[in-house]
Amino acid sequence: MNLEHLTSQDPELSAAIGDELTRQRNSIELIASENFVSLAVMEAVGSCLTNKYAEGLPGHRYYGGCWAVDAIEDIARERAKKLFGAAFVNVQPHSGAQANYAAESVFAKPGDTVMGMDLSNGGHLTHGSPANFSGKLFNMISYGLSEETERIDYDDVAAKAEQYKPRLIIAGASAYPRIIDFERFAQIAHDNGAALMVDMAHIAGLVATGAHPSPMPYADVVTTTTHKTLRGTRGGLILWNNEELTKPMNSAVFPGSQGGPLEHVIAGKAVAFGEALQPSFKTYIDNVCANAKALGRGMESRGLRMVTGGTDNHLLLVDLTTAGEDVTGKSAENALDEVGITVNKNTIPGEKRSPFVTSGIRVGSAAMTTRGFDEAEAERIGQLIGDTVTHLGGEDVMAKVAAEVKELLARHPLYPEIG
Ligand SMILES: *Cc1c(COP(=O)(O)O)cnc(C)c1O
Repeated sequence: MNLEHLTSQDPELSAAIGDELTRQRNSIELIASENFVSLAVMEAVGSCLTNKYAEGLPGHRYYGGCWAVDAIEDIARERAKKLFGAAFVNVQPHSGAQANYAAESVFAKPGDTVMGMDLSNGGHLTHGSPANFSGKLFNMISYGLSEETERIDYDDVAAKAEQYKPRLIIAGASAYPRIIDFERFAQIAHDNGAALMVDMAHIAGLVATGAHPSPMPYADVVTTTTHKTLRGTRGGLILWNNEELTKPMNSAVFPGSQGGPLEHVIAGKAVAFGEALQPSFKTYIDNVCANAKALGRGMESRGLRMVTGGTDNHLLLVDLTTAGEDVTGKSAENALDEVGITVNKNTIPGEKRSPFVTSGIRVGSAAMTTRGFDEAEAERIGQLIGDTVTHLGGEDVMAKVAAEVKELLARHPLYPEIG
């Protein structure tokens, strides 16, 4: 990433970007929805493609001069189909939320009943939060977790589907550490005359390599982001197998909910899909899963409880009530920030505090694995998290942790090619 022109033209902005690079370099990134893209992805996103208007689809555009971006978008489409074993795809959604808006609008009209996972149990805003379009447009019914197992309560999903007869059931989550049974979801949906939408935003990288079962054989439509475990540029993607959905799905994206596609971002997606098709990406995802388990072992060794007892994927939900009565998600997030470890506070099942405070943190291994941390280091980082949250305000413990975090970071420099 060469910022030579930006630096001479706009030093103020260039310095601010430099600050963010420094921040990314100087902390262990454990936010489960983040990752570090390759320099190749960054070059594509920073390219001249940002200049081009290309409303429509390759071969059917509303603007002239689209032959080059047609080829680029076709590469992205072919790679996405191959990666996920899908018959049809739309690579234009600007984000995961945009992909969900388009896909939901194909199956449900305003006022229709839709079922999604409860936000405080790990669902996403676009699965029915009253503050989001989904909660405003649809009659949203939410399902949750079994209190006992802290896993999705499929019997509750089935009972509610039978009672409310929704048009659409949404499966997928932002903070769920276990395998999701898409076959079971599809059976429940189809037995009750509903369509199934799977939002695999968090686990798309795991689905691509087979580390999590694929929803493609079961779901009517699959949506995802491209920037979490999939390690591409920020963006959205929609996949489906039934040709009858092709016209309504494409129209729901454009002109239904977006204008011109971001061809520079689509090029970034294409580069990332190409990377994910390489054998090295499977090794990467295997390491992501091993590192998540190792982080969990490290934290457990300091007495912290993992929600559901552990993880099958790239993330852990940590119950901080086991760290001390006054320890909240908010205070833990702040203390970890101080020692150079970045996480986010998160509600846990049976949450008693507000979403601004919470009793948990969410910890993910996708970004730290990209940076090169191995299993032994991940376990050590888990211990350091445990030491920090069980000694909030303890200055010597925190200083010791901060020093060790610095050492760990120095072993794995981020973007050493960039000055
Ligand atoms: C992150 C996420 C999204 C939204 O992605 P944005 O690109 O931020 O709009 C949607 N669904 C789930 C399950 C997510 O985790």
